[in-house]
Amino acid sequence: MPLSPQAVQSKISTVVQRIRPSDLRSPEARERFLASLPPWLFGTTSGNTACVQLELDDRRQLVFDAGSGIVGFGSSQFRRDPHPTEYHIFFTHFHYDHVQGLPFFAHAYNPGVAVHFYSPIPGFRKILSDHMQHPFFPVTMEDKMSPNLYFHELTDPEIEVYGALVRWRELNHPGRAFGYRVEYGDKVFGYVTDVELQPRDFEKTTRNAEFFSDMDAMILDTQYTLDEAIEKYNWGHSSFSLGVDFAVAWGAKRLFMFHHEPQYDDKKLEQNVNSARWYANRIGGADLSIELAREGVTVDV
Ligand SMILES: [Zn+2]
Ligand SMILES: [Zn+2]
Repeated sequence: MPLSPQAVQSKISTVVQRIRPSDLRSPEARERFLASLPPWLFGTTSGNTACVQLELDDRRQLVFDAGSGIVGFGSSQFRRDPHPTEYHIFFTHFHYDHVQGLPFFAHAYNPGVAVHFYSPIPGFRKILSDHMQHPFFPVTMEDKMSPNLYFHELTDPEIEVYGALVRWRELNHPGRAFGYRVEYGDKVFGYVTDVELQPRDFEKTTRNAEFFSDMDAMILDTQYTLDEAIEKYNWGHSSFSLGVDFAVAWGAKRLFMFHHEPQYDDKKLEQNVNSARWYANRIGGADLSIELAREGVTVDV
């Protein structure tokens, strides 16, 4: 959820209470003070829904999901490259939080831009097109978006784009969702959301190992605390503690906690990531780096 006015006021008020006169003595002291604040106070994870950009060499990029985050991504693209020629967007599934930004992705309306969409769901073109119809939206994909939209229904287990090998597999989520594993050079990136992890995802089968093992960066659905995950059994999301178990079991190097519960504020998310780190240490995962996914943050894999 976006930050409420009350949440902004509360952050400001807490910061003001922490300031000592010495923190205001010089610009450097002010910067030091700000840098000393915890991320939950001096910032936010943001309230946008799922959209992740994976940049390869030569500034080529793959995009995963078109939640509301894709709107800001689109704006940032204008600054980065005023004349983009193509985008490649992979969908995990078509729940609102993963497609709601697409009608507002300005580049898709540029006739000079080719947009390639990917999903293993047969006929997904109609799903996307149907959600941009009256009365949901004033213009349709067919009438106003670029004539160069391409819908790739994934049937082969892997596909190569810009030299990156992209694999997909179905995850346990109501109505079906699919995770993606990207191998590029000697790096492995995983986008594993939305998923309610199950014992079978931990089994050391070849199929599981080929998809889940040895990721340099694993973006994983860790929406809930353990208590809430038990309460929301079968809702299709995982607890962060199970997520840590999973990342450790499959030898991930970095875990990015993703798909934050909209009811949790920044402080609660920070508590969760700290608990996740504590838990990882306890189960022999001290080498696993754990971070919260935050809007606008760029990470080198
Ligand atoms: Zn979903
Ligand atoms: Zn979702």
